[in-house]
Amino acid sequence: MGCLFCDIIAGKRPSEAVYQDELAVAFEDIHPQAPTHVLVVPRKHITSLAEMTPEDEALVGHLHRVAKEIARERGIDARGYRTLFNTNRDAGQTVFHLHLHLLGGRGLGWPPG
Ligand code: 5GP
Ligand code: ZN
Repeated sequence: MGCLFCDIIAGKRPSEAVYQDELAVAFEDIHPQAPTHVLVVPRKHITSLAEMTPEDEALVGHLHRVAKEIARERGIDARGYRTLFNTNRDAGQTVFHLHLHLLGGRGLGWPPG
């Protein structure tokens, strides 16, 4: 079965690229929920955080480091930002390839809906 984010990583679908390295890519969310809304995505297809294995520990850490570098480059780190994974139905996950949301540039409500 096809995967939207695997297709973006392979260059088969367009995206607005923000960053890439050998482990991860980052691109603009197509429906941004904040002035900064970037998705940091491992090249490895992992369906959700629920499917993460011990061998993925460094990779998941790497996604967070990429996110914090992007936040710093955009100058939103001092004011603050949010990083999150939506996992399965109750969280509203719609794309089943692991992706770290980086949201910032406005005040973010808590608790989330
Ligand atoms: P989820 O709800 O699974 O955590 O987040 C999926 C995110 O992917 C959503 O914020 C949605 O706007 C974004 N998205 C869905 N399809 C595309 C696409 O084709 N391109 C990009 N750049 N983002 C997408
Ligand atoms: Zn995938």
